Amino acid sequence: MGKIVTKFGGSSLSDAGQFRKVRSIIEKDERRCYVIPSAPGRRFGTDDKVTDLLYRTYSAFKSGEDFRTVYQVIRERFVQIAQELSLSIDINKHLDALENEIAHGVTEDYIASRGEYLNGLLLADYLGYTFLDPKDLVFFSEDGTFDSELTHTVMASTLKHVERAVIPGFYGSITGGDIKTFSRGGSDITGAIVARAASAELYENWTDVNGFLMTDPRIVPEARPIDNITYSELRELSYMGAGVLHEDSVFPVHRAGIPTNIRNTNEPEARGTMIMHGVVEEENPYVITGIAGRTGFSVLSVEKAMMNSEVGFGRRVLQAIEENGLSFEHMPTGIDTMCVVVSAAELEPVKAKVVKRIMDLTAPDSLTIHDDMAIIATVGRGMVQNPGTAAKLFTALSREGVNVRMIDQGSSELSILIGVDEEDFQRAIRAIYNEFVQD
Ligand code: ASP
Repeated sequence: MGKIVTKFGGSSLSDAGQFRKVRSIIEKDERRCYVIPSAPGRRFGTDDKVTDLLYRTYSAFKSGEDFRTVYQVIRERFVQIAQELSLSIDINKHLDALENEIAHGVTEDYIASRGEYLNGLLLADYLGYTFLDPKDLVFFSEDGTFDSELTHTVMASTLKHVERAVIPGFYGSITGGDIKTFSRGGSDITGAIVARAASAELYENWTDVNGFLMTDPRIVPEARPIDNITYSELRELSYMGAGVLHEDSVFPVHRAGIPTNIRNTNEPEARGTMIMHGVVEEENPYVITGIAGRTGFSVLSVEKAMMNSEVGFGRRVLQAIEENGLSFEHMPTGIDTMCVVVSAAELEPVKAKVVKRIMDLTAPDSLTIHDDMAIIATVGRGMVQNPGTAAKLFTALSREGVNVRMIDQGSSELSILIGVDEEDFQRAIRAIYNEFVQD
């Protein structure tokens, strides 16, 4: 029987009612054998996530304030879940022990990790699954970097002997010693690690949305969910600012060839978004898969007659950028022009130095800097086979009066990047969406 690794985000496990939904999802498919919980999230808009409360507990203790007031709120969240579900675990005993530990001084990572730890204990009890503590399975080196290979080896050999388990997300340990967490949202990474180690056929990431949307719903409120997307497309879209998954969670499963399915705990019948390795069997209804973008860029345009034949010109421009500690985002070039797109915030403090250095190194005919730029990526594996996609895109933009200042078609032919003035950003995204997505 194949295995499915299921990760549930904080809002999917925020109270007893959500725990019930989770159990019924797991019971629907016996392949769902390894479950990765986050800490309890928000139950309503103004509620607190338990992880945030834990960080607050730490700050209170650190600054010598009374940490017990915040801690009491955390305690009530866990006790309420345990009581409403009539669990057999004595959660108060664990909460007392933690309170005592905090009073004697523990690290911030340790406190932060306890949301997942305690929620994992509750969930394991509720499902009747084995509880596996990631402190013995997920490892970081002394310098704090995640040790993926050691983790993979230990995790894979442990899972061979455990048929059904709950493994809390978000943390591990510095080779069996101090607890260390991933960055925020890191339970996604734990889920991906477990999926790879279990050689799962599928990694399910259950959250509170119906999958990945074609574009930002704050810009296009009617944005449709994406049915199928490849990991490479996802990478392009996340790089441009679209996010549902923790960025570092994509690599382990992608490398292992395991598809990820983003699903909604509150609407389990919806199919969600399937993220596939390469070939996608079922095609999407549209030529494009998604649109994402970011503001806050500056474009440096360097122009010089015969630049094309001047050996080392590009290298010298990039040298000036590198020497000033900047990394560049894109680099569209023409015959006699070269544009380098950088973050405006990073450029600002070193602008004069960069300009001087480029002038000294390349003696260009002109050097202009265009600030307040936005970059929009229109991504779609279907664009390669559909001639006229670019024409459609630019027609839509010109109809809306959007001035396209830069064009860069990624070498993968997976995306078309355009640079527009920040004030045209939202209008441009809406124009592209409406052009390609008609219901
Ligand atoms: N609970 C952690 C956070 O709030 C990790 C996670 O939910 O993935 O960031």
